[in-house]
Amino acid sequence: MSHDTLAIRALGPYGGSAPGYRLTTFLIDGETALDAGSLTDALPLSAQRRIRRVVLTHVHFDHIASLPLLMENLYGQSSPLEVIAPKPVLASLRRDVLNDRVWPDFTRLPSKACPTVLLRPIREGKPFRAGRVAFLPFAVSHVVPAYGYVVSKRERSVVFSGDTEPTDRLWAAARKAKHLKAIFLELSFCNAQLEIAQASQHLTPLQVIAELAKAPARVPVYLYHMKPPSLSRIRREIAAAHEPRLRLLEGERSFRF
Ligand SMILES: [Zn+2]
Ligand SMILES: [Zn+2]
Repeated sequence: MSHDTLAIRALGPYGGSAPGYRLTTFLIDGETALDAGSLTDALPLSAQRRIRRVVLTHVHFDHIASLPLLMENLYGQSSPLEVIAPKPVLASLRRDVLNDRVWPDFTRLPSKACPTVLLRPIREGKPFRAGRVAFLPFAVSHVVPAYGYVVSKRERSVVFSGDTEPTDRLWAAARKAKHLKAIFLELSFCNAQLEIAQASQHLTPLQVIAELAKAPARVPVYLYHMKPPSLSRIRREIAAAHEPRLRLLEGERSFRF
């Protein structure tokens, strides 16, 4: 793998689960996961062991489902897996998942001195490094604390929205990003499901098209996080928009920027 290119594998582009529909997970340069819906379904153990860190957008189940199982697979490894997110996300992960009831507290196993997992808090608006890649977190608008990220490496960057309803902060971050190659934008429900999309703070095709007015020109927008039962309608509604920037991300796909 060239160290100069930014390699992104969309392992799971969906916001729901069924055979052939994996939960939201992106793998960056083979060693940094962005969200962890399906890491243990998508990757063999050897590739799971190469993951150094998991960056989380938020703690909803479809984004962390495979994280407890990954921790178990990495148990006993010499260097801990870093789980990186703003404090409210990590606090919820610790309190609601790694609480010794739902799952063991792998931040203290096998021992407090040499744990399987290290929680690393980061701050909104403050860039941080993850291997050879830089991340810039920004807050989005969702029913729990949630963040998107600008991911940059040398002369290229991409933006991930995370789960969000219509928001200006995402587009402000996208317009500021240098050498922006792609935007990965959530799209969860079809137009007829506007009410549930608003209640759960997600996007529909009509809302995505309205959001595009705020997007930088000519940058492709890859749509992900579709709910599998809504997929065929979403596909028709996006096709009917005839907007060449919009591309529905269906199935696993590798990008090299
Ligand atoms: Zn989600
Ligand atoms: Zn969510």
